[in-house]
Amino acid sequence: MKTILQAKCNLCDSAQAQLVYIKDGIGIAKCKECGLFFNLQMKSPQDLDKIYSRDYFLGGDLGYGYDNYLAEKENYLRSFRKKFRLVEKYAQGGKLLSVGCGFGLCLDVARAKKWQTWGVEISKFACDWMKENLQLDVHNSTLKEARFPGNHFDAVLMWGYIQESLDPLGEIKEVYRILKPGGMLFIQTQNIDSLYARLAKDKWTQFKPQTTSYYFSKKTARLMLEKAHFQILEETSAGMGQFCSLGFLLSRFAHIFPAFKKMSATLGGNRLFRRSSVYINLFDLLHFCAKKEEKNG
Ligand SMILES: [Zn+2]
Repeated sequence: MKTILQAKCNLCDSAQAQLVYIKDGIGIAKCKECGLFFNLQMKSPQDLDKIYSRDYFLGGDLGYGYDNYLAEKENYLRSFRKKFRLVEKYAQGGKLLSVGCGFGLCLDVARAKKWQTWGVEISKFACDWMKENLQLDVHNSTLKEARFPGNHFDAVLMWGYIQESLDPLGEIKEVYRILKPGGMLFIQTQNIDSLYARLAKDKWTQFKPQTTSYYFSKKTARLMLEKAHFQILEETSAGMGQFCSLGFLLSRFAHIFPAFKKMSATLGGNRLFRRSSVYINLFDLLHFCAKKEEKNG
């Protein structure tokens, strides 16, 4: 697949960056000006649908993506219900958009809570699945291509999305445009300054340069939101863990330590391992609740 050489920082426009890691053959650099981490080679926009193919979600030989997203469906739904408590602390219904909504499970949870839902998802495979299985009709496009009207939404979710965007600042500015005044943006992303990331270094499980383009810290995520005129009401790592099966946990473990691959293959199919549900929080994810402020306010 084609990659594009990244010349300057998406957050501050500086062209001064220092190479920190090389992961899967892709250089990861840190901006000397603002501290944002990003890949030196970016995905090409034309390749996005190929990257988020069936194999990405359901397992294949790509070397990245999920083993089987749908096998963990109940656990994802449980995780989204838990995260939704944070949404409803600041927004009480109305029009909700999820950007990069994947299989739409977060929209399914929102719909059950009486929100009117919209979604944007670049993967045609995921869009077809949502239509058939959840009767959700989402935009199979980028956020900007969806051309939503201004001042339209009460809440926008960017959960596990912004780090995979090719233009995070541009997309957060677009969210500002389409939110109603006082509307809320909920962003969940990774924290490269977390203890786990600092200890794991280049083995950190959030380093997935085939799909992830940016790696945020509290400081850089906050700067980006403020640059787009958002007022941050809350930032937290609590409650940002996920429910998963022991089989899923073992497969993640095997990604870091190949010695566990055989054990994962044997036990992963075990009924008890597949059906179990444990809650894991490594505190390497951040969640921001941010409000659209008026630019002149
Ligand atoms: Zn920068």
